[in-house]
Amino acid sequence: MEQVKCLIIGGGPAGYTAAIYASRANLSPVLYEGSQPGGQLTQTTEVENFPGYPEGTQGFDLVEDIKKQALRFDADIRNGAVTKVDFSRRPFVVEIDGSHTIEAQAVIIATGASAKYLGLDDEKKYAGRGVSACATCDGFFYRKKRVAVVGGGDTACEEAVYLAGLAEKVFLIVRKPFLRASKVMQDRVFATPNIEVLFEHQTLGLGGTDGVESASLVYRKGEADERRVEIKIDGFFLAIGHHPNTEVFGKYIETDEAGYIKTQMPSTRTNVEGVFAAGDVADPNYRQAITAAASGCKAAIDLERFLGSL
Ligand code: NDP
Repeated sequence: MEQVKCLIIGGGPAGYTAAIYASRANLSPVLYEGSQPGGQLTQTTEVENFPGYPEGTQGFDLVEDIKKQALRFDADIRNGAVTKVDFSRRPFVVEIDGSHTIEAQAVIIATGASAKYLGLDDEKKYAGRGVSACATCDGFFYRKKRVAVVGGGDTACEEAVYLAGLAEKVFLIVRKPFLRASKVMQDRVFATPNIEVLFEHQTLGLGGTDGVESASLVYRKGEADERRVEIKIDGFFLAIGHHPNTEVFGKYIETDEAGYIKTQMPSTRTNVEGVFAAGDVADPNYRQAITAAASGCKAAIDLERFLGSL
């Protein structure tokens, strides 16, 4: 069986940054990128708030740059997703893609978070045929068309503004009477003429023969003035938050109710000695590329100290 000192699970800013630090500490890290190499940054457009890029950069380029930096120090970055773990004994046993098995002295979990859906049957019915959780991936298909974005946070506002540059009309479906997004994002939404914000609306279902053609909404559900609203749309984008990718670590790793890994702050240690967590998988609060990268650095330093103490 292959044996490694340092196994990093997840290829986003946290994982790649951990790989930079672990490589430079001569730990010969092996990193598996998972099913979405690059992580959520590959699904965003411009990143304006990562220090060191005074003119901003593209999310994809940013994460690619971090990866290149890890490769420069000979990090072993591989395709593949972890399908099973046994953290009950050390070295830990980790299975990749249901076949290859590795023994690791220490592990950094940096598996990130994935988009949430509303849970409607129609989201599955129209998956890939009008329903998407990534405006920057799929927005191009909706040039000069009509789309809806669900959510009232920064992601929803950012995606609505992005789509407004491509589509003829964008509805922003918000369940509350206000947006939760930062002031600057709200201002951008309200300053974009082809975005219509539908406050206090919830989605009941989608319609259409081949793909999405309409959405059925309810306005002020449960109130005296409740009414049904139909909108004609070609695309339906979810932007209602994310859930952490922790399922595979199951019984071994302690999480909070939402599934985020609990770490022994201010360190990145988990409840299992020798397993560390970095990035969005352990961060329900900040979820920024810069905080993910920073925690990847911390995890690599924590791991190095752990191995040094054995
Ligand atoms: P948030 O959790 O901030 O917002 C989720 C939004 O979706 C809320 O408006 C919420 O409504 C709504 N929502 C959740 N569930 C449902 C549902 N079932 N039906 C309808 N609406 C629903 O997630 P984001 O992804 O927007 O942002 C995550 C974090 O990332 C935040 O901290 C944000 O600031 C940050 N971020 C920063 C960016 C930047 O700085 N450029 C860009 C994007 C994100 P409600 O308000 O009613 O709960």
